[in-house]
Amino acid sequence: MDLITWTPERVERLTQLFEEGLPTAEIGRRLGLTKNAVIGKLHRIALAPRGGVPVAQPQRNFFEFNGPSCLWPHGHPDDTDFHFCGARPLPGKPYCAEHAAIAYVRPKDSKEEKARAA
Ligand SMILES: [Zn+2]
Repeated sequence: MDLITWTPERVERLTQLFEEGLPTAEIGRRLGLTKNAVIGKLHRIALAPRGGVPVAQPQRNFFEFNGPSCLWPHGHPDDTDFHFCGARPLPGKPYCAEHAAIAYVRPKDSKEEKARAA
């Protein structure tokens, strides 16, 4: 159905623009694609569906398909604007350099640190 050549560079650009929060129509404009092509590709990357399962997944799936991203939480999980940092993490770490510094320098008797380490 779509004859688009998804080079690794193009896919990376797509995910980058998506991470920046651009609307799919705008991403399409920048990549020279239709909005539908962008949406279709996002869905395919996110879920790799077998059997055409419709997409209705919580947003965190997009963090997963975007590859490793910093899991440092911003705000409280009950807040509507709660989100994860999303920056590129250090190799083997769940957090980016900035947040790893905070996470791993805290004293060991910190309750929060214990919860994170668990
Ligand atoms: Zn971070």
